[in-house]
Amino acid sequence: MPPAASVRAARVQFAHESEAEFAHILDFYGISWLYEPSSFPLRRKGERILEAFTPDFFLPDLNLYIELTTLRQKLITEKNRKVRLLRELYPQVNVKLLNKKDYLRLLAKYGYGPPDAKKVPDIDRVLISASKIQRRVGELGAQISRDYSGRAPVAVGVLKGVFFFMADLLRHTSLPVSVDFMAISSYEGDSGGAVKILKDLDLNIAGQHVLLIEDIVDTGMTLNRILERLWSHRPASLKVCALLDKRARRLVDVPLDYIGFEVPDEFVVGYGLDYHQRYRNLPFIGILKHELLS
Ligand code: 5GP
Repeated sequence: MPPAASVRAARVQFAHESEAEFAHILDFYGISWLYEPSSFPLRRKGERILEAFTPDFFLPDLNLYIELTTLRQKLITEKNRKVRLLRELYPQVNVKLLNKKDYLRLLAKYGYGPPDAKKVPDIDRVLISASKIQRRVGELGAQISRDYSGRAPVAVGVLKGVFFFMADLLRHTSLPVSVDFMAISSYEGDSGGAVKILKDLDLNIAGQHVLLIEDIVDTGMTLNRILERLWSHRPASLKVCALLDKRARRLVDVPLDYIGFEVPDEFVVGYGLDYHQRYRNLPFIGILKHELLS
């Protein structure tokens, strides 16, 4: 396994211009990489290695080797042969042969960069890529599984923003978990009134270990009301797991037991979070263009 360090393009002597360009793209989108960190023997005669293959890049975060092809067809055919052999001999190694169009597509698939500027013109930039989200959600799921080991908690999600996060998180837990949802009204201008419960719990949580799952905690006012409500049902314990913590804007000091990411004071969308009900289906979390926020 190569070291999980990263370098920046300016510090490396590349064999080809296209490799330097690719490294710059990776740097630009904050993806860690290593240049030619490993050689894989392909053919041996006794102890002697007759042929080896050294993929151009290793991307530790994606556990992926990349070989860039040049435009000359003869070289592409030769590289294809080597990659085929590499896959046969080292099936555990994840390797991709990329031309320029391919690697731009690959970056978009992992949620980096202009995701697909044509498809999501309203996004200013990607804040948290799809792969970063998945990695962190996996970590949280493992931590929750350890902390609740031997118990059967009730996971309560606050609709709607939480639906992707909750689904992914619970798939990463190895617990006999029950699931319930609440829906509450949000503040819509100065019309008086208070937070309304639009959908209350179906399950009785008295004496249960409850894990409340939230998409984002901003001022903390919503979560504060929900926690008051949940405590009134006398659960055995009550913890909070929030995907995003916009701590800079906190007004009410609510306890967060598990946090996915701290985010800056920006309006974010994607991975369940909306703006006027849109953008929930983006696989990454992005910052909406300021001019669109009215
Ligand atoms: P709080 O009561 O903590 O101020 O607000 C929490 C709720 O506001 C969240 O559950 C979410 O619905 C909404 N919210 C706060 N910040 C954002 C944001 O950056 N993006 C989106 N889409 N919703 C947000």
